[in-house]
Amino acid sequence: MPIYDYMCLECGHEFQRVERISEHEQADPRCPKCESAKVERVLTGAFVKTGKKS
Ligand SMILES: [Zn+2]
Repeated sequence: MPIYDYMCLECGHEFQRVERISEHEQADPRCPKCESAKVERVLTGAFVKTGKKS
């Protein structure tokens, strides 16, 4: 089962969830720290989000 990394956009807390593929499509991940639903999936490994690329 894949592990997904998330980052909370509210408090910056990073956390992981283990989800099945079918689960992930309807997942409603929330920050375990502040319970915000404003979380962003962090893609680890091959792709790193830098924001700017020259
Ligand atoms: Zn949070």
